[in-house]
Amino acid sequence: LAAQLEERLHVRAWTHYGLSEVPGPALAFECDERSGLHLSEDHFLAEVIDPAGDVAVEPGMPGELVLTTLTTRAFPLIRYRTGDKVRWLEGPCPCGRTLRRMEWLRERSDEAMVIRGVKVYPRQLKALLQRILGHEPQGTRFQIQRTGRRDHLVVWLGVDELIFSDEIKEMEQTSLRLGSEMAMELGIPVRIQFKEPGSFEADGS
Ligand SMILES: [Zn+2]
Repeated sequence: LAAQLEERLHVRAWTHYGLSEVPGPALAFECDERSGLHLSEDHFLAEVIDPAGDVAVEPGMPGELVLTTLTTRAFPLIRYRTGDKVRWLEGPCPCGRTLRRMEWLRERSDEAMVIRGVKVYPRQLKALLQRILGHEPQGTRFQIQRTGRRDHLVVWLGVDELIFSDEIKEMEQTSLRLGSEMAMELGIPVRIQFKEPGSFEADGS
């Protein structure tokens, strides 16, 4: 998009990175060198962590951007997980600014879901499901559902030949069995819902 804007409008476009949760100036901005985004380190403390482990990744490795505001008074954020994937760029920038630079990878890190105080990741759930099924699931989607005040996890699972039965009762039993096995592992209630494998969005989930 930036390239198109520049070509057609004969202007220069710079990337600014911000979050709707953080009003005010950009969190990070591009300089004339266009070599990553300088982080506004006088306003934010940034960490790049492993989304599954809450620890910093090795320098230069992609991870989730976690921010702590240093100057916001009314709405401070403390170790706020942005869900955005970035990586640190090492070395000084030719522009002379000493603010650290990051590359914004424009993809979301795997988002955690917290169900009754238990944090689960779609990636982890998919792996668990695969282990219980004994084969790779044909499409999955995970959702938190609230009934009354009790949350539970709903797993939408694509039906393949290995799961399918023309006996409704058998399908129900399979769903109950998978649900209870997952629940036992995770310590949270799980309900399995079957779905046509083709009806999952093409987002790889
Ligand atoms: Zn620079």
